[in-house]
Amino acid sequence: MMDFQASDDELRIQTLARDYARSTLAERADAHNRGAFPTESVRDLAGLGLMGIKSPVALGGLGGTNVAYCMAIREIAQVCASTAVTMAVTNMVGDMIMKFGDEAQQARWLPPLLSGAFTAGSFALSEPGAGSDAASLSAKAVLSEDGSHYVLDGTKMWITSGDVAGVVLVMAKTQPDWGAKGISAFLVDPKAAGFEVGRHEQKMGLKGSSTVSLRFEGLKVPVEDRLGPEGIGFKVAMTALDGGRCGIGAQALGIAQSALDAVLAELPARKGADRALQTGQATSFRVADMATRMEAAWLMVQRACALHDAGVRMSREAAMAKVFATETAGFVTRTCMTLASASALQHDSRVGRAYRDARVARIYEGTSEVQRIVIARELVRGL
Ligand SMILES: Cc1cc2nc3c(=O)[nH]c(=O)nc-3n(C[C@H](O)[C@H](O)[C@H](O)COP(=O)(O)OP(=O)(O)OC[C@H]3O[C@@H](n4cnc5c(N)ncnc54)[C@H](O)[C@@H]3O)c2cc1C
Repeated sequence: MMDFQASDDELRIQTLARDYARSTLAERADAHNRGAFPTESVRDLAGLGLMGIKSPVALGGLGGTNVAYCMAIREIAQVCASTAVTMAVTNMVGDMIMKFGDEAQQARWLPPLLSGAFTAGSFALSEPGAGSDAASLSAKAVLSEDGSHYVLDGTKMWITSGDVAGVVLVMAKTQPDWGAKGISAFLVDPKAAGFEVGRHEQKMGLKGSSTVSLRFEGLKVPVEDRLGPEGIGFKVAMTALDGGRCGIGAQALGIAQSALDAVLAELPARKGADRALQTGQATSFRVADMATRMEAAWLMVQRACALHDAGVRMSREAAMAKVFATETAGFVTRTCMTLASASALQHDSRVGRAYRDARVARIYEGTSEVQRIVIARELVRGL
């Protein structure tokens, strides 16, 4: 039987995130919505341990579960999605250093990443010609003749926090003709010569999250900064995405909740002829449908997390949770736009912001189409 009751530890982590979001982040969310990067907020989150929710306490994390991680992300996203995505990518980079890094790498990179000294961590997989088909990436890392370092060349695109991160987890080909098996992962120090930040993307939503292109030109990466053996970079990326997809589902549901809460808060204030809006079936059925779908999506996210926590392969469940939760967030925010009507078009409208912020969740960490490919492939393989 599945236990849907969160543990005391999970509830404690959720409360940490919720209290911070409502007491402090809420006041800053409008500024982030207008484009201010949440520097102070991510440092505060690091101070609370929320930049390394699953990382060991000894290294500055909270030693929590995947369930706790998703509960916390949902709380932060409900108040500020830009802060939530910055937090999510940083957690993901820390998780990969924990999983694939050796002791020296963990001791070097995790304390500054989790304490906020680094501001954020960044994950650089996508390229101008390699988004959904990540295995076709063309950045390359060539081992020097004396074997002491790699020389990294290439361009990455759409990289969250790429300009503010203290460490960038970069996927590059060490064997260009070997497809996915030729990809390796590197922990790159952005202060290294040859690391250049390119264009800052101006997005319709998530305006406080920084999204940039990166260019590497003759960048020397010491051999000890390769994460795991050569050739496991694609595995590192896919492992990150399995966990990350649950987090994006949680993030999308937090955004959807903020839109629904704003609409529910508004309805009782409507008077006279508008009363039908409050009690009529056209509205009440919509509200019921939104809440029901969000509940179903949250159960899917929690189940994928619970499997992950139990060490069970969960690529299919994570993809199902991501596609259902993010498409639900699309449905909910669209419906809330209809119910809120003109007021949702005002720049500071919570509903309008949620509508814009929710869209990207169906794109990053694998589009909805890619999730469906993963689900079907796993089913065909009997997994
Ligand atoms: C705000 C933002 C932040 C991001 N942050 C990061 C980050 O931190 N790190 C990182 O590495 N990347 C990041 N990304 C990149 C993101 O992961 C990619 O945008 C995503 O993987 C899709 O790639 P693409 O945009 O190049 O679309 P494409 O791969 O070019 O796809 C275009 C369309 O074709 C569809 N499609 C593609 N292949 C198939 C297929 N086989 N069958 C059916 N349909 C298909 C897609 O679903 C999509 O609708 C970010 C993107 C955004 C928008």
